[in-house]
Amino acid sequence: MPHDTPLIWLLVVGLGLAFVLGTIAVRLRLSPLAGYLIAGVIVGPFTPGFVADANLASELAEIGVILLMFGVGLHFSPKDLMSVRAVAVPATFILILATTAMGALLGVALGWGVEAGIVLGLALSVASTVVALRVLQEKRLVETERGRLAVGWLVVEDLVTVLAMVLLPTWAHIRSEVQVGGGVSAQQIQDIAIAVALTLGKVAVFIALMLVVGKRVVPWVLHRVVHMGSRELFRLAVLSIALGVAAAASAIFDISFALGALFAGIIMAESELSAQAAQETLPLRDAFAVLFFVSVGMLFDPMILLRNPLPLLATVAIIIVFRTAVSAGVLMLFKQPRSTSLIVAASRAQIGEFSFILAGLGVSLKLMPEGGRDLVLGGAIISIVLNPLVFWIAQKLSPKVAAPVEPKPVVSQGRAVLIGYGRVGSIIGRALDDAGAAYVVIEDRQELIGQLQARGISAIAGNAVARETMEAADITHADLMFVTVPDGFESGRIVELARSINPKLKIFARAHSDAEVEHLRGFGADLIISGEREIAEAMIQAATRIIPRRVPATVRT
Ligand code: AMP
Repeated sequence: MPHDTPLIWLLVVGLGLAFVLGTIAVRLRLSPLAGYLIAGVIVGPFTPGFVADANLASELAEIGVILLMFGVGLHFSPKDLMSVRAVAVPATFILILATTAMGALLGVALGWGVEAGIVLGLALSVASTVVALRVLQEKRLVETERGRLAVGWLVVEDLVTVLAMVLLPTWAHIRSEVQVGGGVSAQQIQDIAIAVALTLGKVAVFIALMLVVGKRVVPWVLHRVVHMGSRELFRLAVLSIALGVAAAASAIFDISFALGALFAGIIMAESELSAQAAQETLPLRDAFAVLFFVSVGMLFDPMILLRNPLPLLATVAIIIVFRTAVSAGVLMLFKQPRSTSLIVAASRAQIGEFSFILAGLGVSLKLMPEGGRDLVLGGAIISIVLNPLVFWIAQKLSPKVAAPVEPKPVVSQGRAVLIGYGRVGSIIGRALDDAGAAYVVIEDRQELIGQLQARGISAIAGNAVARETMEAADITHADLMFVTVPDGFESGRIVELARSINPKLKIFARAHSDAEVEHLRGFGADLIISGEREIAEAMIQAATRIIPRRVPATVRT
């Protein structure tokens, strides 16, 4: 294996294996994340064969984190974050305290002492932003009320982690002085207070700068670039701002890359145009997010499962059972509906990047033995792999059918199902209203669901790609389906699924190219309308009305 091009080999083998194992995982009805993690274990140093460069992998993973948080920022306004603060802030603190206490107990049980246990508990108490976001995105929950709460919680937790990272070295320092002689002096307490104030101050300055200066400068820069008419330059501008703000946040303000990127996204979302165009840079995000999981897998030594199963089992129980139960309990205490509490709690039943950072810091400061880091790593891998299962259980325990699905539609004769209520779907919907037809809408934008239901239209919130959403729309008893979603991959899957549930259903689908028309026909769509072709034909028709008669003067006025 050539050693002079480690980055290329990491990308080729890492992404390639992630693709193969991700595909196998999906075939086995597991989350693709499990496949990516195992790909990481295979290219990691603890298994024979090719060993990828771990430092490079973790840096690439960091880019994945930046782009993911940037994407979240694009969908969030500071108002959204403030609206969940009343629940997210206390919930974060309660969960961190409870988990840290459990970690301390485990530390004592393992004979490491309370201090090491507290560091272990702290590492176990923060969920992975990347994992939670990926799962929320997969389930299309990011922009729902639940998603907002889950993301708000992640942000508060992120801030607490930044604080913990600053405090751990101070703690280690004081501890070594106490060991040398004497107790804690007033001077040391003052030191801690200054460290906390300084960190909070830096975060506040960063946020203020972003909201005051960034909010003006960034849209202005983007606006200038738009006028240059180059899409490439525009994308480059968006990417540079996202990465630049994240890097500056970390270098100047000691804030995590993730938090910096989140703010870059929030600022960029200010203008409609930039938000839309910024979305286009997001495919990059997916590739880098995959590398995040590969790099986590690389850190894992599978032998720990055999060497030390009991403490690992206890760690996994704390992450999955204890944390989920406490989170759900706290949310219900704050009067959140049961289904919201369960789903948000499930999104937190895992640990990841922040835990590694805290555990690594704990070990290097000699606050926790090496074994603690192995437990955190093992616990992270197992909890990430099991996370889809936790979600499944949460959805089963939620009242009603599947979580994102709201009221059951009325079943009647001659029914249509309308998938997507955007530019295309809303026009069809109005025509169906005029014709007095019975129909149900499946739409994944939550805010549209409320509007539709207020107009007395049956509407189901959710991704039509999911079988349970389709079943909630009672496809078996429908006669006609309009698939108006713009993504060809998704509409192919929707057509295939609908066809398998109801072979007699007439399916009309939307396409954008001849290739998509073929693709959808292959899955069994009866009528496929290609938007671009229709536009061209309408233009030609309008032109033939004008050209043979010569352009009359009135047309030009
Ligand atoms: P437009 O392209 O304006 O016709 O909008 C398409 C609509 O379809 C949007 O409102 C999307 O939220 C919705 N949509 C896209 N994909 C899905 C999906 N997989 N399931 C349900 N709704 C979807």
